[in-house]
Amino acid sequence: MKVLAVGCHPDDLEIACGGTLNKYAKNGAEVYMCHVANGDLGHVDIMPKELAEIRTLEAEKAGKMIGAKSVFNLNEHDSYVTRYDNDVVDALTEIIRYCKPDVIITHNDTDYMKDHQEVSALAFDASFMAGLVHRATRSVAYSSIVPIYYMDTLAGVNFVPTNYVDITDCMDVKLAALTCHESQIKWMLKHDNIDFLDMVKTCSKYRGYQSGVTYAEGFRPCTVYPRMTTKHLLP
Ligand SMILES: [Zn+2]
Repeated sequence: MKVLAVGCHPDDLEIACGGTLNKYAKNGAEVYMCHVANGDLGHVDIMPKELAEIRTLEAEKAGKMIGAKSVFNLNEHDSYVTRYDNDVVDALTEIIRYCKPDVIITHNDTDYMKDHQEVSALAFDASFMAGLVHRATRSVAYSSIVPIYYMDTLAGVNFVPTNYVDITDCMDVKLAALTCHESQIKWMLKHDNIDFLDMVKTCSKYRGYQSGVTYAEGFRPCTVYPRMTTKHLLP
């Protein structure tokens, strides 16, 4: 089994599906993580260029902890992510062709900010383009139109999961991977008084209450033709 998770900023996947990705890896799946934006506007005191470099390293460290085979960075600037940039569509199409995923996990189509919504649309569009033989990228076309699962929104707002993954045994790894994003965790605490680790733990616990386990992550499938499947693709 091969899994590709496509998030916007370098810490988004750890927040919403880090436990699930770790569970996939523990079960022997090949896990690939991709962040479209480089997170360069996620701080006031650290300047964008330096922050992008810091956050790239943080994401790579977190990915290793989760058990990902590779962490891809499309290096788009924060706030400039758009589904209408064909270079980005092609870059993501190439990653999909290279990874040949059985399932793609990405942001909910109505998440709380534009860049997240654009990444959701990019994953949807690129996974369709990946099958078009004459839309050429380095790798050959990947004929499968991959089923997509949308991951939870930030703090679970406006998101009702239809599928839950028990991440009780992966919660430690999820939090450890999130802790790798030191630039964000320290900044959020200082600037916004948000304890990110506590928020993520609380949300996982809340989804756990809903599904009868200690900690869980919630998802819902993209139900656009022909993404539906009889396969059970979540771990
Ligand atoms: Zn984000």
